[in-house]
Amino acid sequence: MKKWKCRVCGYIHAGNEPPAKCPVCNADASEFFEVGPEGEELASMVAGSSSSTGQGSLLAKGYEMLTDHIYKNHLHPISVHFPNGVLPAAVIFVGLAIFFGHPGLQEAAYYNLIFVVLTLPVVLFSGYVSWHKRYKGAMTQIFVTKIVCAVVCTVAAVVVVAWRYNDPTIMDVPSSSRWLFLLVNVVMLATAGLAGHLGGKLVFDTRL
Ligand SMILES: [Zn+2]
Repeated sequence: MKKWKCRVCGYIHAGNEPPAKCPVCNADASEFFEVGPEGEELASMVAGSSSSTGQGSLLAKGYEMLTDHIYKNHLHPISVHFPNGVLPAAVIFVGLAIFFGHPGLQEAAYYNLIFVVLTLPVVLFSGYVSWHKRYKGAMTQIFVTKIVCAVVCTVAAVVVVAWRYNDPTIMDVPSSSRWLFLLVNVVMLATAGLAGHLGGKLVFDTRL
């Protein structure tokens, strides 16, 4: 039986034909190439790596070096744990502060949310770099969903911090907007969770 490898996510399919759709990343059959028993490439049709040397400005070379380090040292899965650890705590504090009107929890929630906003640029940039290096920037369903989640999560995080900054009483019990404030927090948590779930799927479901 032949083996086929998905160019996008690395999933390996066994069969005489490649699958119509990759079960992991949804890429279609044209993204599959045949591999040998050990997973080695048979037809050398895959584009070479983008580590071009020679011409190019110093800035471009510096960028290439930086992004190579980001990818090879797994900055994305590492950095994503920083906001992901704090984000659920922040949203739980927001919920508790709103239900019980506790000023200390409001403060805790606010500073945790600021931490999330400060770490997101590293998560987003390292995610962008890994997507380009590992998956050649493929625009399949799984990546479109991840990008939409990342954008919504980032916007929601910035909105809640800016909102609390402009209105320090937003989480107070008399505030009628506090439920909307909680909703934006929940959207932020849900999109971060979905993006993380899909990331785990990409990393773990491609192993045989
Ligand atoms: Zn795939």
